[in-house]
Amino acid sequence: MDIGFIGLGSMGQAMAENILKAGHRVRVWNRSRERAQPLAALGAELVDTPAAAFAGDAVFSMLADDAAACEVFDARLLENAPRDLVHVNMATVSVACAEKLAREHAARAIHYVAAPVMGRPDVAAAAKLTIIAAGPAEAIDRVQPIFDAIGQRTWRLGALPQHANVAKLAANFMLASAVETLGEASALLSGYGVAMSDFLDVITNSAFPGPVYSGYGRLIAQDTYEPAMFKARLGLKDVRLALAAADACAIPLPVASVVRDSLLDAVAHGDGEKDFAVLGRVAARRAGR
Ligand code: NAP
Repeated sequence: MDIGFIGLGSMGQAMAENILKAGHRVRVWNRSRERAQPLAALGAELVDTPAAAFAGDAVFSMLADDAAACEVFDARLLENAPRDLVHVNMATVSVACAEKLAREHAARAIHYVAAPVMGRPDVAAAAKLTIIAAGPAEAIDRVQPIFDAIGQRTWRLGALPQHANVAKLAANFMLASAVETLGEASALLSGYGVAMSDFLDVITNSAFPGPVYSGYGRLIAQDTYEPAMFKARLGLKDVRLALAAADACAIPLPVASVVRDSLLDAVAHGDGEKDFAVLGRVAARRAGR
């Protein structure tokens, strides 16, 4: 297939590379051009504008947030894009942003699919992302070969794109809560001189197996938050988006409010660019350790 790819950050780089490796033609655009150079070396075509990427069979995007999406997918870009193109937005954006983009794309006969993902950049590099897709079924069918090149499984959540986004936000809220409790448990253990690494062996081999507790727990046990696989700043964005989505339909999320403040604490102490697991350091600091 002939694919455009917009946004070559930690996630986008790995995803675009896997699309190339699967034998597709890939045109890439990134705001900072130098970040696109490694992909050019692998055979991607570097284009100068997002409009040049908005062509071919489908365009995929993996930008940071709502603000980036609004800036890049503006009225002029959509007006000049080919009709019947499929745009797959894989970033974690707000429900409101997804609804707006779906409306604006539909008004110009461009198919809009929301396909946020679960998995960090190492999972993306291994082509093992979990993809949560929602949008017109026929458009998802068309891009399924690309999903197969970057993910281990695609879960379909119906025809309304924003349903995929709210599912992703609910998942990240659960993830953030798990990392917060890991940090607090670690602080509790430190009060009694129990090593977090010993505790982790116990819980990840019993009640709490899986990548969240073992991966983030290891970072907290090692007190190592760089290089960041998933930045605290982006985690804060996601918890805020979950709170906004909940607020829009009067759903209280008390735990999310606590985690939002812990992430704000990390940012206030200059740790926004560090890994999300830096919540462990926040809990330790609160405990005077
Ligand atoms: P990242 O490394 O910070 O990359 C962000 C990308 O967005 C870069 O390509 C950046 O361009 C671009 N960008 C930011 N603001 C822009 C603007 N105003 N105009 C144009 N481009 C702009 O982030 P990431 O970790 O790849 O995350 C990307 C998305 O995936 C986010 O929505 C994140 O929540 C989601 N996600 C991340 C993970 C993870 O573990 N990292 C996992 C699942 C989902 P420059 O290179 O020019 O800065």
